[in-house]
Amino acid sequence: MRQLPPPLDAYQWPPSTDELARRVGLDPAQMIRFDGNVPAMPPVTARPATIARALADVNEYDRGRYFELRLAIANYHGVDINQVVLGAGSDELIVTCARLFASNGSVATVPANSYSMYRFAAGMAGATVVDEPESADLVFVCRPNNPTGELPDIPSVSGQLVIDEAYADYAGVSAVDMIDEGIIILRTFSKAFGLAGARVGYALTTPELALALAARVPPLSVSSLSAALALAALNSPLDISEQVAERDRLALELEKYGLQPLRSWTNFLYIPMESPETYVDGLLPYGVVTRAYPGALRISVRDQLDDDRLLAAIRDFQAGTPPTNIPTLFRRATAETSLAIRLRIPGQSRVFISTGQGFYDHMIQQMAFHGGFDLRIEGVGDFETGDHHTVEDTMRALGDAFATTLGDRKGLARYGEARVPMDEAIAHAVVDLSGRPMATISIDPDPGMATHALESFVQQAKITLHVTATGSNAHHVAEASFKAVGRALAEALRRESGVIKSTKGSL
Ligand code: PMP
Repeated sequence: MRQLPPPLDAYQWPPSTDELARRVGLDPAQMIRFDGNVPAMPPVTARPATIARALADVNEYDRGRYFELRLAIANYHGVDINQVVLGAGSDELIVTCARLFASNGSVATVPANSYSMYRFAAGMAGATVVDEPESADLVFVCRPNNPTGELPDIPSVSGQLVIDEAYADYAGVSAVDMIDEGIIILRTFSKAFGLAGARVGYALTTPELALALAARVPPLSVSSLSAALALAALNSPLDISEQVAERDRLALELEKYGLQPLRSWTNFLYIPMESPETYVDGLLPYGVVTRAYPGALRISVRDQLDDDRLLAAIRDFQAGTPPTNIPTLFRRATAETSLAIRLRIPGQSRVFISTGQGFYDHMIQQMAFHGGFDLRIEGVGDFETGDHHTVEDTMRALGDAFATTLGDRKGLARYGEARVPMDEAIAHAVVDLSGRPMATISIDPDPGMATHALESFVQQAKITLHVTATGSNAHHVAEASFKAVGRALAEALRRESGVIKSTKGSL
């Protein structure tokens, strides 16, 4: 009988969200992962339309090996296209580098406490991990470093130097201009570009080393769908200023709870402490997933919405306040439906709606898109009795989320109006973020629940809404209505000043 391959130490994934939720008796939708170093939201370019073309050709191989993407990457970094090698995540290129330069040899990392994959890649190549970079065949420099967030100096070594710049966008530094010295730079779309699930990474190096690497990566290991997502992300300007500002805010807020993060050049914070497991275990029942390292806790920075939940969990955990009534963003569960809603206003029109009621999912999507919201609604309804419960509950839950997100409505323009045609149909919407629910809605013909859906939203959102819409096709009339409401809301939500737009001083 043929012998089994010898066992190999493999990359350790943390437990799935479902598994962690089960451990603490929560719903997976209540869990927020602060252990993955990825942004809270996908990029705005990650829309179905972005991959539509690639889907239409998904029966084909891309014989040009994603020429457009490689060219865009080359231009982005000011190098030649023959200096770019694509991989299925930079992990694939880490493994390739280990096989190419350290087969049965030695690998060192800088700093010593660095990304675990280098060690596993060394194992795959039959290499040993050594402490001295000077004498290693291959040296991975993680710059900035995971997990500590620091920016290490680039050592001068005799072996092959690979600089892993997975988080370099957050640091605003790169060693790309050292490529001519024969170094290899690794980059990824998983972090600042928000495409971890798409698995796209690349190496930048000399044309000769690029050829040597490409020869060892399986042909087309990146899928055409992923290549399309990466290209679209690269073609729209990357702005990480918000994430960097949020990192600095979170670091300051953590200090209020006696936690002292090291200075970070990345999208995560590393907090030296004696028993980090206490925090990891203690925060889990609040739906907050963090990660322990020997002598430190690592927390990924997400966005204000999520990070505020983390801070509240730390506050309650430290005070010994049990996790009752977990402040899951906007969650609605009735006998008929169960919904999880994430809403951010103003957002960038990143909208994903999935309740199973396709037509009204589409209507809400139009409203949120034109309203400039970031909105994610996921849920399931009971359709045995028709779509009534699901649509009504979704719109009420969205109204709740809207009211909570707006808070005291201070500084907002308050009034908005829009007229939107759709073919033969025309809709007129006027909104007042009044604080009092009042709906005067005439949608004629109504495809079924359009009027009731908007009334349900108004009730919970505490706004005044007038809609008049006419036409001959009910679908068009409803769609024009939801778009008009979205546009009117966008106008009313404009930030004008720091005051509440009411002579009464409150809404
Ligand atoms: N390098 C570093 C330092 C990382 O932290 C990660 C992701 N955890 C990777 C590379 C791999 O990224 P990907 O394979 O998703 O491109």
